[in-house]
Amino acid sequence: MKAKKRVVVVGAGIIGASIAWHLAKAGADVTVLEAAQAGGVATAASFAWLNASWGNPEPYFHLRQRSLREWTRLAGEVPGLPLAWTGGLCLDMADAEREAYRKLHAAWGYDIRPIGRDEAARLEPNVRDLPEEALFAAEEGMAEPVAAARALLADAERHGARLVIDDPVVAFARSGDRLTGAVTASATWDADEIVLAAGIATGRLAALVGVEFVLDTPPGLIVHSRPHARILNGIVLAPGLHMRQTAGGRVIAGADFGGGDPGADEGATAGALFETLKAALKGGEALQLDFHTVGRRPTPKDGFPAVGRAVNGLYLAVTHSGMTLAPALGLFAAEEIVRDRRDPLLAPYAPSRFAGSA
Ligand SMILES: Cc1cc2nc3c(=O)[nH]c(=O)nc-3n(C[C@H](O)[C@H](O)[C@H](O)COP(=O)(O)OP(=O)(O)OC[C@H]3O[C@@H](n4cnc5c(N)ncnc54)[C@H](O)[C@@H]3O)c2cc1C
Repeated sequence: MKAKKRVVVVGAGIIGASIAWHLAKAGADVTVLEAAQAGGVATAASFAWLNASWGNPEPYFHLRQRSLREWTRLAGEVPGLPLAWTGGLCLDMADAEREAYRKLHAAWGYDIRPIGRDEAARLEPNVRDLPEEALFAAEEGMAEPVAAARALLADAERHGARLVIDDPVVAFARSGDRLTGAVTASATWDADEIVLAAGIATGRLAALVGVEFVLDTPPGLIVHSRPHARILNGIVLAPGLHMRQTAGGRVIAGADFGGGDPGADEGATAGALFETLKAALKGGEALQLDFHTVGRRPTPKDGFPAVGRAVNGLYLAVTHSGMTLAPALGLFAAEEIVRDRRDPLLAPYAPSRFAGSA
């Protein structure tokens, strides 16, 4: 019998969790090494809107839309995945821009339609200041990011994966030009392949083996209310205020879904944003600010995912929009690592497109 491929996944955010789950299901011998706790860093600060929305070239749209479908597949297989397919209500575009977006994305197969103020009010009765016309994207939704990553990891463990937390990777072992393991304080973990899914730390780790991989890491501030009775039903993209309500009842918002710039005084920025949120909702005055987060989005230089082999034995998986993309990237990465088949949807996203990578 052929020996199982030994794969070490570095990072237990949503990307590492999805790759580990798909690898374990594909029959690999999987170890996840995590510097802190399961659930990630960017993942824990994410707005977690699942979408294939505006502003993307067509191949990227198709990758995102495929990943929405892969979330649905995963929900059928992984116990306790916290997803809600509520649809997304887009209120923040000028007429011409909205129509151009609708036309293009509808032609690509996105389930998106114009709606009037009355229908928008039926969908979101507590949102004030609804415009005469809006767009509704029916196939969009939301995830609870940390719980989703943990559900994937727990199920990966049920399929034989090992999860090692609080044990940062500090170096790599190599034999000739091939990586053979990852070194932590507790051990050297032998591997046939190492997957770097370490979010904004990916560049620093890749540099340890001479791979130059530079990321942008824009910060994004999100406010979280205390849990409150249901006041929002889905994703709402209002001008300067993107908001949703979590499964636990918290209303969360950013100046946009990627989180706004925290500015020089992030407490003051969070306070001002929260006042805007309260004013935007009927009954919003009852909301109480609990805390805010500032997360950094792991963003490859051209804004698109970097997924694939960088050098012999080292596979990179880093992206923004990782909440949307995790299921498809996990599926495709596992397929490439275990069966040596690269999905055509990954064609534009090889890490080798960046100067300095092999
Ligand atoms: C404010 C904000 C809003 C966002 N909104 C959305 C959205 O609406 N929709 C969407 O699709 N995406 C969104 N994103 C992007 C998405 O959240 C990220 O793309 C995704 O979470 C990245 O996941 P990850 O697993 O790559 O990184 P992370 O969650 O950062 O996980 C990486 C893990 O690697 C670990 N690690 C680092 N160094 C080491 C080491 N040396 N050894 C071992 N482990 C290590 C870290 O501790 C961490 O747990 C948002 C992000 C932010 C910050």
